[in-house]
Amino acid sequence: MKPLIFAGNWKMHLGPGGARGFLDRFLPHYRPATDREVWFFAPAVSVATVAAAVTGVTAVRVGIQNVHWEPKGAFTGETSVAMAAEAGATAALVGHSERRHVFGETDREAGLKVRAALAGGLIPMLCVGETLAEREGGRTLDVVRRQLGVLQGIPAADLARVRIAYEPVWAIGTGRNATPEDAAQVHAAIRAQLAELGGPADAMSILYGGSVKPDNAAALVGQADIDGLLVGGASLDPESWRAIVGAARN
Ligand code: PEP
Repeated sequence: MKPLIFAGNWKMHLGPGGARGFLDRFLPHYRPATDREVWFFAPAVSVATVAAAVTGVTAVRVGIQNVHWEPKGAFTGETSVAMAAEAGATAALVGHSERRHVFGETDREAGLKVRAALAGGLIPMLCVGETLAEREGGRTLDVVRRQLGVLQGIPAADLARVRIAYEPVWAIGTGRNATPEDAAQVHAAIRAQLAELGGPADAMSILYGGSVKPDNAAALVGQADIDGLLVGGASLDPESWRAIVGAARN
């Protein structure tokens, strides 16, 4: 069985000092388990610090929250895949809803970033999810289908390395979350589309994200098609993060 992935998205929190302080409180209590992995999507400036702190720690991965698709050049403020890898990242978030809705990132750009990450040896975690208006308009599955469409044409061997995070936009940072059953329904549709795209769908991890807390984590990962959790706010507190990472698979 593929391991559950518990991925913390620190957003624009925890610079190098804060990241070190977090890990000083988290790592002494961390007990690696064969059925799960812990990922940290750190701010770009903290990736090297986190990578150094978790060197040799089992089943922990460090990722960056965004990359540019070009290898280098006049792109002020951006980070290339090679730079992220050099700093110690082995994964990259792509198309997080804040990138899409605050910074206007498009599906096309998300597709370019997935391909750049794959070419540069990073594992892309592609985020998809509908807004409240789209959900209320009954368009959830259409929107997710369109966003996943950027994977069209990626060879199966590369698709196998992609992770998906289903994050309904209306559930991110709002305290509202999809019921485990609602989320599982979208996850099943995503898995079906991954198979259509030629990927080894059953082996591919589809995470849920959106106001995950210690008290709902177990119910979410208890759903058949939910292979892990992408967590924002609750990943910033070492105690709540420890509780989430320890969530049972029931
Ligand atoms: C996120 O940032 O990906 C996220 C899911 O945030 P939160 O857990 O705070 O809703």
